Amino acid sequence: MSLILYAIPFFLGFIALEYLVAKRTGQQVHRFHDAVTSLNIGFISETIRSVLKLMSVFVYALVVDQVAVFEWDLKNPAVWVLAFFMYDFFYYWAHRSGHEVNLLWASHVVHHSSEEYNLTTALRQSWTNQVFYWVFYLPMAIVGIPVKVFVITALVSALYQFWSHTRLVGKLGWLDRVFVTPSNHRCHHGRNDYCIDKNYGGTLIIWDRLFGTYTEERDAEPVVYGTLSPLNSWNPVWGNFKNYATLWRDMRSAKGLGEKLHVVFAPPGLVKASRPETPPALNARRFETPVTRWQTVYGWLASGLVLALVIELLRVAPDLSWPARTAFTAMIVLNTAFLSRIFEGRTGAIKLEAARCLLMLAPLAAGLWFYPVPLAVRGAALVSLLASLSLLFLLQRDSAPYKPLRPMDAA
Ligand SMILES: [Zn+2]
Ligand SMILES: [Zn+2]
Repeated sequence: MSLILYAIPFFLGFIALEYLVAKRTGQQVHRFHDAVTSLNIGFISETIRSVLKLMSVFVYALVVDQVAVFEWDLKNPAVWVLAFFMYDFFYYWAHRSGHEVNLLWASHVVHHSSEEYNLTTALRQSWTNQVFYWVFYLPMAIVGIPVKVFVITALVSALYQFWSHTRLVGKLGWLDRVFVTPSNHRCHHGRNDYCIDKNYGGTLIIWDRLFGTYTEERDAEPVVYGTLSPLNSWNPVWGNFKNYATLWRDMRSAKGLGEKLHVVFAPPGLVKASRPETPPALNARRFETPVTRWQTVYGWLASGLVLALVIELLRVAPDLSWPARTAFTAMIVLNTAFLSRIFEGRTGAIKLEAARCLLMLAPLAAGLWFYPVPLAVRGAALVSLLASLSLLFLLQRDSAPYKPLRPMDAA
């Protein structure tokens, strides 16, 4: 079971607190569609990353076993201090590469695809980054940092980064120049000129100051969140794979091996075909679609179900076969993709969602799932199936036509 799952109640608690404080102080830092999209991307990332993480930890352990130069005692505090600094240093370079190598940007971009900035953005993590980033930490295995120390250090770093994704904490003086804080990480998520490719740190910001990528938040130029090539969609699948599709298209149109390699490895801004003709102006409207009452109710119910399924999948995953595990994951992914079609008011989205509910919940209610289902779960599945179908009926009546305030881009 993924350790970070235990942190989910705390994450959700702090998100609720952020929402209440923002409301109390008259600030608007959340939007419904954006927050639900971020949460669903985050929940699913845990199921996919838990598998990929196992593979990277396996390789790490293999390197420690075969190549390690030193042997460390877990009780030696020096190994924990060394691991902390090494991890944070390599995190800086992994994250920097995530922005400056087109292939890695295709994976990391989803974390930056929100045009909002709040604690839900912290959970909007890439589904594919575990495929690439483990390589950056292998030097830690070579110096013999034990697997346990590596895993705990990585977890602490991930947990630390959560709190920096908020607009409710202002500048913090000298802390902003030593640690990653809300102020300097806000710049990292900005698409203002002074924010692009800045502040890559994970826990310490000193690496940015050392390697020339540090910037401070400017009061006169408020940060505008998002990317130069906006996602313009609430679809978690598209959010995770849009840039891979663009990369594939650019690679196919590139002439010769040299140009193809350029598309894969050059900084995104230098890959000609990927560069947006004109990035949206800083005061351009953000992507937005109408929110209706029943959409809100249905959105929260569906996301609650996604979270419940993710927790269930992580609980039973070790006993499932790979095809069953993949099918289970695909069903959860479909949940969020179809929900986004409703949010975007797309034609036929509600009928498609009703079909998906029947396809997924009817067998669950009948107990014909990937494993024997207890009676209580069957009952819950039946109730949620009936609730989903009734809500979809209500949604059908008040659903708004698809009118994005900014056109979907063609890519
Ligand atoms: Zn980033
Ligand atoms: Zn971030």
